[in-house]
Amino acid sequence: MKVSAVLSRGDAPSELVDAELDEPRSDEVIVRIEAVGLCHTDLVTRQGLGGRPAVLGHEGCGTVEHLGSAVEGLSAGDRVVVSFASCGGCPPCRSGLPGYCAWATALNGSGRRLDGSPTIRVRGEPVFGSFFGQSSFATAALTGARSCVPVGDVPPEVAAPLGCGFLTGAGAVLNVLRPRRGDRLLVIGAGGVGTVAALVALSEGVEVVVAGPVPFRRTLPERCGAAVVASLDGPMPSVTHALDTTGRPEAIARALELLRPCGALALVGLGPTEVSLDVRSLMMRGLQVRGCVEGDADPAVLVPDLIRRYRRGRLPLDLLVTTYPLAGLDRAVADQRAGLTVKPVLLPGG
Ligand SMILES: [Zn+2]
Ligand SMILES: [Zn+2]
Repeated sequence: MKVSAVLSRGDAPSELVDAELDEPRSDEVIVRIEAVGLCHTDLVTRQGLGGRPAVLGHEGCGTVEHLGSAVEGLSAGDRVVVSFASCGGCPPCRSGLPGYCAWATALNGSGRRLDGSPTIRVRGEPVFGSFFGQSSFATAALTGARSCVPVGDVPPEVAAPLGCGFLTGAGAVLNVLRPRRGDRLLVIGAGGVGTVAALVALSEGVEVVVAGPVPFRRTLPERCGAAVVASLDGPMPSVTHALDTTGRPEAIARALELLRPCGALALVGLGPTEVSLDVRSLMMRGLQVRGCVEGDADPAVLVPDLIRRYRRGRLPLDLLVTTYPLAGLDRAVADQRAGLTVKPVLLPGG
């Protein structure tokens, strides 16, 4: 099937190109992409691939167009969020933790299907595709039916980031840290992940402190009731829970300092891959440090839950989103780096 796709090559300007999607296999579908969020992992991957041509994008939302012969539970015309890929059969998948799928790396980051076959070609040549099982910076994406979560008539630009960024922030609070009413959560970083974490926690009656250097990004959490600070350097209140979305060693160290006894820190941001921990302090204060992927979420469970919260007016996800045309990917990246947006979302439809 012919599609338009955004081709990335390292630092070179991205290019809107004609591409050819493979035919769906029996357990796959083609989704006409209506909206696709830009997530930090797209940028990290683009860098990591060097100059290798790639179609990225992993927060797709759109309408199911073609179904493989064995697909059940989806129909043509369904609006779905396309989340990360998982096998469905390994022990973590069977226990509702698909983020820790035994095949997660190959399915989401190899650029091909699990059997090594390419899913997208440009000018006849296979390019890095099947990113998070989708590669949705395009007018349509080929994906596993298992990755699709039906979402009904929610605006696609609001639903798209539920596939990864919003899922990660919400899941880190609801599944991993689980603060209770009256607890105090420190959220470090006010991008899409941190902001959703803060809003979800506030709606659960948790006190929230958001730390982030960009004034624009502190506005929404503050308006929703969070205390906000530009940096963690000054005097800070102690907290029961902390979420780091930055991966910065000094932020992680400061979060541990601020935790009360038996407090918990969750890590969802990748920076330098090693930090040092004071074992004695962790032990004597009973602290927990917990990494997590995609907020420990099963998208089939958490995406509908978050949509219910949005519909009830408890989670104003629409206020986080800034939209761009599909060809505006580089502008979206620049705006995100400049702190002018919280969650950029591309609209391949127009
Ligand atoms: Zn699995
Ligand atoms: Zn992501």
